[in-house]
Amino acid sequence: MDKIPKEIQIIIKKLKKGGFEAYVVGGPVRDFLLGKMPKDWDITTNAKPEEIQKIFPNNFCNNIFGTVTVVDKNTKNDNLNNIEITTYRIDVGYSDKRHPDKIQFTSKLEEDLARRDFTINAMALKITNYELIDLFGGKEDLKNKIIKAVGDSDERFTEDALRMLRAVRFSSQLGFEIEKNTFRAIQKNSELLKFVSQERICDEFEKIILSDRAYEGVELLRKLKLLKYVVPELEYGIGVSQNRHHIYTIYEHCVLSLKHCPSKKLEVRLASLFHDIAKPQTKAGTGPDSTFYNHDFVGAKFAKKILTRLKFSNKIIEKVSLLVKNHMFYYNVDEVSEAGVRRLIKRTGKENLKDLMDLRIADRLGSGVPKAKPYKLRHLEYLIEKVSKDPISAKMLKVNGQDIMKILNAKPGPKIGAILKVLLSEVIEDPKKNTKEYLEKRVKELNKLSEEEIKKSEKIIEEKKEEEDLKDKKKFWVK
Ligand code: ATP
Ligand code: MG
Repeated sequence: MDKIPKEIQIIIKKLKKGGFEAYVVGGPVRDFLLGKMPKDWDITTNAKPEEIQKIFPNNFCNNIFGTVTVVDKNTKNDNLNNIEITTYRIDVGYSDKRHPDKIQFTSKLEEDLARRDFTINAMALKITNYELIDLFGGKEDLKNKIIKAVGDSDERFTEDALRMLRAVRFSSQLGFEIEKNTFRAIQKNSELLKFVSQERICDEFEKIILSDRAYEGVELLRKLKLLKYVVPELEYGIGVSQNRHHIYTIYEHCVLSLKHCPSKKLEVRLASLFHDIAKPQTKAGTGPDSTFYNHDFVGAKFAKKILTRLKFSNKIIEKVSLLVKNHMFYYNVDEVSEAGVRRLIKRTGKENLKDLMDLRIADRLGSGVPKAKPYKLRHLEYLIEKVSKDPISAKMLKVNGQDIMKILNAKPGPKIGAILKVLLSEVIEDPKKNTKEYLEKRVKELNKLSEEEIKKSEKIIEEKKEEEDLKDKKKFWVK
């Protein structure tokens, strides 16, 4: 990034022509100085919202804060579709610890910069001569990789508690340290995070989790005493030991799994962090023989509760809880049967298997196991490929509901569904049974039973399989 985009230059020139001052400000100045392409471009000016709107007819205006967004439909660059222009302002009063009670326009750029959160975010750039307006040492802090509050840090966090999370977010995105006084002020005011809405907490938490230093970010939340207002459930695992198979405590293992997660996907990263979230509650026994039965199922529920509270989307919530629920899947070359792999696919869905394997890699590396056992995983991938053409859903059976009704000359009803389930269970065990002849024969046999009995026989097969899977699981993981 060595040049200001033409689109921004045009806007600033137009404002100047109208007799106003105009600067690039905040995030884009920081990113520009770091040599990075800014995500969005913000401009600040002494022009009032109505005056800005007059100059740019193609705009929409946020009335509460008077931000005018200029829409540029011709640009090829997505970052430049919507450019936000704000009038120099000061914030007045923060009675809810989050939002200013009101904003007041000012004619002084200096006052606008002073209301901003961190020194690296409080610089303005004059684009005609690339003069930097840097009143708080932002450039120096950028050079030294430091996040430092503008002015009195204690005051800044009591005004707006969200800034504390923003500090952690910038630290983990940029790999910067939080300056000593700013650090202390956050620790002191951490409790104020209670006043911040879950949606805003979620936005920042998501950015931390998606950053290159997600692990450092979560650790920083803990050190700053903020974690208990974001995900207190993680703290229950602090200092709680596991068993002979683990060198790390539950909390350490959770954050290290996040650190080693090979996926950049939010869902997989969250699942890495939360896969053992229920271990403190499911722990039985002490010392090297402790067990954690059902922590996968209970953990899926906990993850759902946490992510719902944080207002993540349903899609993310469902995916994370599915991954957590199934993270104990068993695979060992020579031991895992093809039927076992078919059951795994049926349980989790083929589209989720890659993510489930990434979660396993995160889990293993986060346990301090030196390698992610690529050979075993590759073998499982091979088996998945091999069996994925086998029937794993009712749709893939050679006999469908319609056929069954025809064979039995029966109407639709629960009995038909129950028969289908038994057929599928049998075929997953042995795909060779997926022939019209065999299935038709079984339909007639099963029809002699009552609906109750059919359901029971399906349950018997399912239970037997679950028992087998569980046996495998214990053998392998002994968690
Ligand atoms: P990003 O690259 O994530 O967009 P950003 O620095 O541009 O980072 P924004 O949330 O877009 O962050 O905010 C734009 C600017 O507004 C910031 O650089 C900062 O100067 C100021 N700002 C944003 N939120 C706050 C806040 N809560 N308190 C004080 N200033 C803030
Ligand atoms: Mg921004």
